[in-house]
Amino acid sequence: MSELIFEKHSRNDASWLPSLEMPEAALLGQIPQTHRRKMAPAIPSLSELDVVRHFTNLSKKNFSVDSHFYPLGSCTMKYNPKSLDAIAGLAGFSQIHPYQDEADAQGALRVLFEMQAFLSEITGMAEFTLQPAAGAHGELCGLLIVGAYHRSKKEKKTKVLIPDSAHGTNPATAALCGYEVVQVRTSAKGHVDVADLKAKLGDDVACFMMTNPNTLGLFEEDILEIARAVHAVDGLVYYDGANMNALLGICRPGDMGFDIVHLNLHKTFAVPHGSGGPGSGPVGVRKELIGFLPSPRILKKDGGFFFEKNAPQSIGKLRSFYGNFGAIIRSYAYIRALGREGLEAVSENAILNANYLKTRLKEIFDVPYDGFCMHEFVLSARRQKMKGVKALDIAKRLLDYGVHAPTVYFPLIVEEAMMIEPTETESKETLDEFVRVLFQIQKEIDEEPQKVLDAPSTTPVSRIDEVRAAREPNLRFRR
Ligand SMILES: *Cc1c(COP(=O)(O)O)cnc(C)c1O
Repeated sequence: MSELIFEKHSRNDASWLPSLEMPEAALLGQIPQTHRRKMAPAIPSLSELDVVRHFTNLSKKNFSVDSHFYPLGSCTMKYNPKSLDAIAGLAGFSQIHPYQDEADAQGALRVLFEMQAFLSEITGMAEFTLQPAAGAHGELCGLLIVGAYHRSKKEKKTKVLIPDSAHGTNPATAALCGYEVVQVRTSAKGHVDVADLKAKLGDDVACFMMTNPNTLGLFEEDILEIARAVHAVDGLVYYDGANMNALLGICRPGDMGFDIVHLNLHKTFAVPHGSGGPGSGPVGVRKELIGFLPSPRILKKDGGFFFEKNAPQSIGKLRSFYGNFGAIIRSYAYIRALGREGLEAVSENAILNANYLKTRLKEIFDVPYDGFCMHEFVLSARRQKMKGVKALDIAKRLLDYGVHAPTVYFPLIVEEAMMIEPTETESKETLDEFVRVLFQIQKEIDEEPQKVLDAPSTTPVSRIDEVRAAREPNLRFRR
């Protein structure tokens, strides 16, 4: 079967179908001779049915939240209700033009303004910008604000401290912004080693970037002390809130002493993601930092909404227009639909599901940093590795059982890491089935490990050479 639609041609004679095309003459008159094609485009000629089958069959070769359990830690692959897509598709949202006059876009501006207020309330921050297009973009926004803040105080700061368990985008962003990255150790219990942090704090420290719960899924109980220590050297405390799934309605980074936060709407709230689809990484700040936020900000005056363009201290515009509007609309509708109690239930169920799974899986896997976990937890396959089967092999074997692999080999401080995040949207039956599958794979490891080492055997491609794919990408298609 051809995999590329360009390799397909329909032999059907469709001449009896009504023509859908514009009359040629009408178009030709509009396009100057120099801009016209010299050759017909290499577009395959197919019927609608052929096209539908082609893409439906392609989609079935993939794993998605709509088709499979997807416990990818740190990514929060939760189910996003389809009703939110329908809301984002309403003409008032989807047909509006970003160059439209403020006066004609009051409804859209109101939604953006209210969203800023919702996020401020949820996180305990003073003000939000919705411009950043994803989490890493939010981090960039946050660290630019850190730089602007210290410049405004004529302070020279060169270092950003980051725990060794951090998401890779944290050190990448700090380095991109010109800071020296200094790693802070994790304690034996899986928390920021406060003594190590304090030893590394000095007047040259601009910021401490933190994730709480951290990437081991554990809540940082010393957070108040940590924030005080960083503030004592006039450093700012940055909250990587990509996954705030465990804290909604329960506690707030603003109350913990964080100065700047970013949220991933596509993880914590409701925007379908994966495959690089549009995300949204709003950034919130405490009161003293509002002036540095990207411009324009959306403000309210006399019952109307407008863009504040006079912002002398602002780090400037971060993205075209005001952010990924469709992503923001989906999360706005999600927050409104759930309300305060609903959001709290999201977090309670995310925590319950994670702890249930961890407790059951502890029977066969090591948990190097074991404690009451938040929305996710990290297993180690080091016991399995002694039998010759690694975390990667188990991840691949899961595909044969119709489960997307968890995140593996992250966080870096856990040997043979398997990071599992079930999310609140999964039923107990699905979690039990996942446990059954992992016990089955454990049995295979004990009795016939080759099955696991050869996996996956039921997918369209088996193991691919990921290094070669990255180093020698072949981006051509055959005509
Ligand atoms: C996903 C994630 C990020 C980066 O977010 P993107 O939207 O992928 O740029 C940053 N930190 C943590 C903890 C994450 O899980």
